[in-house]
Amino acid sequence: MRKPISSQTPSTLRSWLSSKEEREYRADQILHWVQRNHAANWSEMTNLTESLQSKLSGEFEFSTIKLICKQGSADTTQKFLWKLRDGQLVESVLIPASQSLYGNQSDRHTLCVSTQVGCAYGCKFCASGLNGFKRDLEPSEIIDQVLATERWHKNQTGATERIINNLVVMGMGEPLANYDKLMVALEILNADWGASIGARKITISTSGLVPEIRRLAQHSRQYRLAISLHAATDEVRDHIMPVNKKYPLGELTAAIEEYQQTKTGKITLEYILMAQLNDSLDQAKALAKLAKRLRAKVNLIPYNHVDGLQWTRPDEHTQDAFLLALIAHGAKVTLRREKGHDIDAACGQLHLRTEKELANAPG
Ligand code: SAH
Ligand code: SF4
Repeated sequence: MRKPISSQTPSTLRSWLSSKEEREYRADQILHWVQRNHAANWSEMTNLTESLQSKLSGEFEFSTIKLICKQGSADTTQKFLWKLRDGQLVESVLIPASQSLYGNQSDRHTLCVSTQVGCAYGCKFCASGLNGFKRDLEPSEIIDQVLATERWHKNQTGATERIINNLVVMGMGEPLANYDKLMVALEILNADWGASIGARKITISTSGLVPEIRRLAQHSRQYRLAISLHAATDEVRDHIMPVNKKYPLGELTAAIEEYQQTKTGKITLEYILMAQLNDSLDQAKALAKLAKRLRAKVNLIPYNHVDGLQWTRPDEHTQDAFLLALIAHGAKVTLRREKGHDIDAACGQLHLRTEKELANAPG
């Protein structure tokens, strides 16, 4: 199988070029085409000789993912379903600045990327783990979600400027369970010669893998951290997130505190509101206490329905009461309740639906 071009670095490309008796400075030109200009094929790389273009195409794969379905429209969120080289499916979600929690007003777009096919963590409310864990994504498969989305946009609009300047690692899979490959991908997405997305504009979401949070604390880059908390006591969290049995809240908060000692950015506590499960005022009080202790902001997300699961979102009155209780207890909090939330449903769902459709399709 050919090597993916998207995970090549200046040094790997330079040594390949010299092994092919080509000039090493060509590495910068190639990377510029791939990472910054979003060329759609080798022949678009007009400052390279035809002979080099053909050596490149013999050695490298242009993209490791293929778009098979897109949902949504430009002014809301758009979901992309990708097919990988082994036929597996993953998704990314493109979110305009006006709808993104993780950017600021001047930001262009946030892309939510997947890091694994499926998920082994089996949270009881989540679509991503319903079919179990299949495999980790390669660095190129993570990077290609960004490059292919940029290419798609260029193709649609003719615009040459890049649109993604925020990245949230919150798609399918548990990012910190694929730590090493994720770090390779982020290094390239962050590099000046790569997608050049600022480290502080990259947010990694985790269900709470304590050893890897500690590893991230020692990592040289200032990536941001979001914790999928979803419950403020061990009793409730044990019930919906098996990972909590391994790393209960006491251990998780200690790791977060260690992370905060080395990083400047605020962390986010993600909290899905599920009716009669974690929406009581007692949970709000415990959550506010935790958030204040961790100097974290809370992001409340009304639950998105997942076919086959029994959970529902609380009514708006209960959502508001929970929000107000958090504020009254001194927590910093946002509640996302934009229109079209069901279509924009949490990552993992488009993939599930499409897999079912493919399975049921005649022939
Ligand atoms: N595994 C990582 C990142 C992927 S999950 C993590 O758990 O953080 C991305 C986010 O979507 C998490 O906060 C997850 O809890 C949330 N999520 C999963 N299912 C959801 C649903 N049905 N409705 C709303 N949010 C959901
Ligand atoms: Fe995996 Fe995150 Fe879904 Fe839990 S919430 S099953 S860790 S993707």
